[in-house]
Amino acid sequence: MLGSRKEPARVPGLMPDPMPDAPALPEGPPATSLRRALRILSDPWTMLILKEAFNGTRRFSAFQRALNIPKQTLSLRLTALCHEQMLYRRFPAPQSGGTQAAPEYAPTAKTFDLADAMYAIWLWHRANPGVEEVLPFDIIHKSCGHLLEADYCCTACGGPAHSTSVTIQRSQPEQVETEPRPRLARRNDASFTATSSQSGGMVAASLVGDLPCNEILFLLFQGPRHPLAITQELALGAPVVRDRLDKLKALNLVREEVQGRRLVYHLLPRAEGFFPLLLAIADWGDRWCNDGQPPPDPRIHACGAILRGRYRCRHCAEWVSRDQLELRFHG
Ligand SMILES: [Zn+2]
Ligand SMILES: [Zn+2]
Repeated sequence: MLGSRKEPARVPGLMPDPMPDAPALPEGPPATSLRRALRILSDPWTMLILKEAFNGTRRFSAFQRALNIPKQTLSLRLTALCHEQMLYRRFPAPQSGGTQAAPEYAPTAKTFDLADAMYAIWLWHRANPGVEEVLPFDIIHKSCGHLLEADYCCTACGGPAHSTSVTIQRSQPEQVETEPRPRLARRNDASFTATSSQSGGMVAASLVGDLPCNEILFLLFQGPRHPLAITQELALGAPVVRDRLDKLKALNLVREEVQGRRLVYHLLPRAEGFFPLLLAIADWGDRWCNDGQPPPDPRIHACGAILRGRYRCRHCAEWVSRDQLELRFHG
């Protein structure tokens, strides 16, 4: 009886918390494009490496210098990203003396297609104080000459995609993710804080590096939740949920509220900047991670269209495209 998916939702508070580090739960987490995308992206280093690749870094040694990342770790991540066809190795033409130059790791179309998520990270940091060392460059919109300020908008109607104007559907509610969770809990705590501090508080990129944080945020965008509801809806262990809620609280992204005998978690306004980031990642997941199948969780915009979001410049109202952007490094 327990664990049958036909059962009505269990009453919160009546079910004991699952054991810490309990073996695989009987039901997998719901299949979503966000989760499928995060299976590739949610590693504390991966987004940072991709960010560097976006900014033009190509050589192993240059990645290593820019990120201060251990060689072995970098080597594993680059190999994984090549395996996912997000980077490819290429050999520059031999130099005049005939010596072969070191291989380069170049981004593929799949990586460039993640551009909106990269802008979301930059814009989030831009809008939040204490970012000088995190953002050593400005992004200029060449079309109008302004520093990039942009809103994530629906390409069908042009209206902004806010958490209040987007509804997430489950087109295949019975579909659950059967693939094992990527390395979780074991080492996430240490690396989470390590990455945030080593890279000068890359809060947004570090959050993307943690799958449960993203899934919890995405769920809370759909409405406040009790922790037990979160564990059930995402099929995550209770200790993981508690730990991530504490982190999100420490980052001032969620607040807790006592309702009767229960704690309910709400998003704080500061979290809204993460919504386009998660939408952009889910959108990318629709295109690259569903084996050509329709997305299991289409997002519907207030206008009724399936949301296909893009950034739109606040100054000139043009859709932001990579060839119209210029990085200007400080100093
Ligand atoms: Zn729309
Ligand atoms: Zn512009």
